[in-house]
Amino acid sequence: ITFADLGLAEPLLRAVTETGYTRPTPIQAQAIPQVLQGGDLLAAAQTGTGKTAGFTLPLLHRLGPKPTHLKGRPRALVLTPTRELAAQVEESVRTYGKYLPHTSMVMFGGVGINPQIAALRKPVDILVATPGRLLDHAGQKTVDLSGVEILVLDEADRMLDMGFIHDIKKVLALLPAKRQNLLFSATFSDEIKALADRLLDAPKLVEV
Ligand code: AMP
Repeated sequence: ITFADLGLAEPLLRAVTETGYTRPTPIQAQAIPQVLQGGDLLAAAQTGTGKTAGFTLPLLHRLGPKPTHLKGRPRALVLTPTRELAAQVEESVRTYGKYLPHTSMVMFGGVGINPQIAALRKPVDILVATPGRLLDHAGQKTVDLSGVEILVLDEADRMLDMGFIHDIKKVLALLPAKRQNLLFSATFSDEIKALADRLLDAPKLVEV
């Protein structure tokens, strides 16, 4: 099986080839077609399995060929537990999206908020964020989450371990009801299952 077999748009295939990937990993082979269909996804995947491309590539595809012109109103939101992971995911978005016109931004706490506010005064299609700083921006109305079409919770188990459940629930309350949800987690505690039940609508299950 090849990336082309999975149904990804040509600009994404070009970026993947340039990155040097020849074959999709098992999580990519399973997750990408499911995400392209538009439904919710529950994925059990560890770091190192290629999970980042597994959601980034179909997410970019689903945003279509046109970038947003709306400022500070992302169409896709990726939540991660740490700033390091947020930065890595956004770097992947840039790498795989290099032949697409979409814009992306990363935000996390522990650094000045003003450069982030300045960045949000421009159009942004894909926002990668840690939950606390995202809520700071939402509270200040420097970000508008009412246009989010796709939500990804990456390393959801780590987010819960780090005590982000309340922040996640607050973010969920700011999102439109009709959207696609992707939940990635290495482990499946009762807490993760409860979050999945609350968040996901008839999810397809992917395990590697
Ligand atoms: P991740 O699990 O998303 O953190 O990815 C782990 C590593 O696998 C990253 O360094 C990726 O660049 C690499 N990778 C992702 N997909 C592929 C692929 N299809 N072929 C080869 N390497 C890949």
